[in-house]
Amino acid sequence: MNPPISPPSTTAWHSLAVADTLHQFQADPDQGLDSEQVADRWRRYGPNELEERAGRPDWVIFADQFKNLMLIMLMAVAVVSAILDLRDSKFPKDAIAIVVIVILNGILGYVQESRAEKALAALKKLSSPLVRVLRQGQVQEMDARQLVPGDVVLLEAGGQVAADGRLLESASLQIRESALTGEATAVMKNATLQLPEDAVLGDRLNLVFQGTEIIQGRGTMVVTTTGMQTELGRIATMLQDVVSEPTPLQQRMEQLANTLVGGSLLLVVLVIGAGVWSAGWSAFEELLEVSLSMAVAVVPEGLPAVITVALALGTQRMVRCHALIRKLPAVETLGSVTTICSDKTGTLTQNKMVVQSLQTLDQTFRVTGEGYVPEGNILLVPQTDTGETPPTALPHLPLPIALICLTAVACNDALLQHKDQDWQILGDPTEGALLTLAGKGGYLPDPWQSKLKRLGEIPFSSERKRMSVACDGTQLPADLVSQLPGGSPGAMLFTKGSPELILERCTQTYQGGQLGELTPGQRSQILAQNEHLAATGLRVLGFAYRPLGQAPTAELVEEQEQGLIWLGLTGMLDAPRPEVRDAVARCRQAGIRPVMITGDHQLTAQAIAQSLGIAEAGCEVLDGRALSKMSQEELEQEVEQVSIYARVAPEHKLRIVQALQKRGQFVAMTGDGVNDAPALKQANIGIAMGITGTDVSKEASDMVLLDDNFASIVAATEEGRVVYTNIRRFIKYILGSNVGELITIAAAPLLGIPGVPLTPLQILWMNLVTDGVPALALAMEPAEPNVMQRPPIHPQESIFARGLGWYILRIGFIFAFFTIGLMMWAYGHAQESGDPDRWKTMVFTSLCLAQMGHAIAMRSNTQLTWELNPLTNLYVWGSVILTTMLQLLLIYVEPLRQFFGTHYLNAQDLSVCLVFSVVLFVWVEGEKLFVRWFHQRKGS
Ligand code: ATP
Repeated sequence: MNPPISPPSTTAWHSLAVADTLHQFQADPDQGLDSEQVADRWRRYGPNELEERAGRPDWVIFADQFKNLMLIMLMAVAVVSAILDLRDSKFPKDAIAIVVIVILNGILGYVQESRAEKALAALKKLSSPLVRVLRQGQVQEMDARQLVPGDVVLLEAGGQVAADGRLLESASLQIRESALTGEATAVMKNATLQLPEDAVLGDRLNLVFQGTEIIQGRGTMVVTTTGMQTELGRIATMLQDVVSEPTPLQQRMEQLANTLVGGSLLLVVLVIGAGVWSAGWSAFEELLEVSLSMAVAVVPEGLPAVITVALALGTQRMVRCHALIRKLPAVETLGSVTTICSDKTGTLTQNKMVVQSLQTLDQTFRVTGEGYVPEGNILLVPQTDTGETPPTALPHLPLPIALICLTAVACNDALLQHKDQDWQILGDPTEGALLTLAGKGGYLPDPWQSKLKRLGEIPFSSERKRMSVACDGTQLPADLVSQLPGGSPGAMLFTKGSPELILERCTQTYQGGQLGELTPGQRSQILAQNEHLAATGLRVLGFAYRPLGQAPTAELVEEQEQGLIWLGLTGMLDAPRPEVRDAVARCRQAGIRPVMITGDHQLTAQAIAQSLGIAEAGCEVLDGRALSKMSQEELEQEVEQVSIYARVAPEHKLRIVQALQKRGQFVAMTGDGVNDAPALKQANIGIAMGITGTDVSKEASDMVLLDDNFASIVAATEEGRVVYTNIRRFIKYILGSNVGELITIAAAPLLGIPGVPLTPLQILWMNLVTDGVPALALAMEPAEPNVMQRPPIHPQESIFARGLGWYILRIGFIFAFFTIGLMMWAYGHAQESGDPDRWKTMVFTSLCLAQMGHAIAMRSNTQLTWELNPLTNLYVWGSVILTTMLQLLLIYVEPLRQFFGTHYLNAQDLSVCLVFSVVLFVWVEGEKLFVRWFHQRKGS
């Protein structure tokens, strides 16, 4: 049956009462839509998607490629070369080739960039929000794309609203609507309102809008409009604009290009000036041709494309390590991380909670059972537990334990579901574990979650570290009510949270079954119990309740969390992730300091940190309270010694990052909550949790951890180092050859060898093909074994640091030295033969082949080629074979020879070129041996 839905975008939903809205959509607030309704509406309204503005339009991306100064200079070279050729009535081959290559370079850059933008957009989609929807009476988690009008959706703090909707329920629901209204402060929403039709967007407090952020509280809505029909769709400005920022490296490369262009222009002026001065104006034309070749030679035409590919490859490899890059600079800057600040729960631990013990003032209980299966027993541990007397089952649960179980069910937003023969939770694992506990105690969430009707609530937040609900207590079982002092309580307040904070708000407790005033001695005893449980690494929560008498008429407020009755503690096990211990050790070896920042108790934090090797026994722990009292300067003095921060609030995280950065650290910081966003933005690498993270935290992050696992951060850091090392590797390779070409060309006129050894076309061929292809292969080089045994790369370090600039110059000169030798020999030799210009092709071929040897030697900076496994980078071998073949085609295929202006080489010439190319390989390998010998001598 088709519901009588009026066109969703034209109805003033804010002026309708909840019941009318539901009626319009034929939606049942307790059951949600059925599958037929969903299918019908899906057909009518399509997926809940916004048509994405794909960042810059294609033509702008293409045009941007030509803003590059190097390409502009090449175009100028093309113009001059065309004028010279046309004047001599020659076909302007070089000029056309340069233009083609410039355009090809532009297309390549365009393809890479738009691919990178699309890939980033696709990656962003991967982390697109999941929503909790009620359909056919079941709460299901699904992709927000699947929402249809009429769906009943649960809203939780930290989420992004996935479609426009009318609120059915709201509890302290605060939403930031800056995406729509520009207003940064959150608005308090209220489901009970009915507003005049002319209320403006910002005043529609009973509606929620797609793309806005839930800052606090909870609610449910019925979806009114989806996709492009929503307010956000209508104004058609997308939140998820994909902007690819230039990475620091790309910026540095641009600077490098500018320097090279400036330098080469200077050189051109110098060579022409010196030539004209010594040989007069008659030499001008030849000098101009030499200069054109030099200008082309100095520009590493292939470099930008190779860098883009290296970064894109890095991004892909990181996804394989479960790290999803949201901002491209993170790929290369990850290698510079010196400190990783990590949450505990879920990142260092498994976040699979199970309550193992219960503690009232005078009794200790052990809870049996595994996982989230609500089957197991709550057994009393004998007072003098020597380990010999087994815990015993009691015929009835003592009153405080029964009340803890009821609190666990009532004060809880998670859902426990029996699906596919398995028990699963939807929501926070801490709360899931409590539902399981309640089930073991005989209070299964179904039906108790609905029996204890919620009348009001103050939701959990990491700042408050507790949660309270007011419930209707009239359905409590008679035997329990009979034990309650004062009998039937009417409404009840149930509270759970950080034990210290709950205890502060308690005035009474049960002892020996009797309710009495909470004495200072008992308070100390409870705190000691808390510490005892925490010290064993358990996550401890305190429980309390209070009869409210009358049902509350107004919203629950914090003042009502007073005069509570202390019930007891639950200790839940959240085992450390087994792989993290290793990851921590790798961090240390790599000079990276892991730091734990947790909202949990300091002893729990300490126990887990010790078991993972993050801190030593008795190490310094800074807790939130002490941190609050410290000035920023004092904190800066402490941060480098402290490895555990406990009971911290999200705003402390920001201070910790800032203090670490002030001390010169390069910080990666994890976060999942809404309020972690500022710290994530401030950190050098902000890391959001893919599974438990809120949409807001993901939006603020540079990287999303798909599996929430600390070990994946370390793996991604390693990949970051590999990317950076490989970039340095092929920069060395490419620029070394450029310098060699440049010197060789400049040397010819100085040595009195007439003619230009290399034409612009041949140089372009070398720079793009015979250098470019092996450089791409070098970008694929796997990690060197010691990549995580070196200190982090300094983020401000110049690309030429650590000997790279010196290497380029040195190898460039060596390259030129041998080539000039060969050039002189070949020139003399060729003059006696029938083809006096053959020497030029020998120089050209030798330079190309020498780069093949160089590429093979460049695979490692320290290991000799025969010490490396040849199979680990077959691309290098493939690229060497391919480019050598291509180079031979240029010499032996007539049309290509014509086009590239090469000359036929006989077997003897070719052998000379081959021998020469081996020389460079031997030289680079010799350098490695020399460095090794030098270090050994220094070490001995
Ligand atoms: P981390 O920051 O490492 O993830 P955490 O999960 O302990 O640690 P929070 O989620 O901020 O940090 O929790 C802080 C404290 O609040 C917990 O130690 C616990 O005492 C309490 N707490 C956690 N979850 C809940 C909850 N759902 N209801 C009530 N109290 C809770």
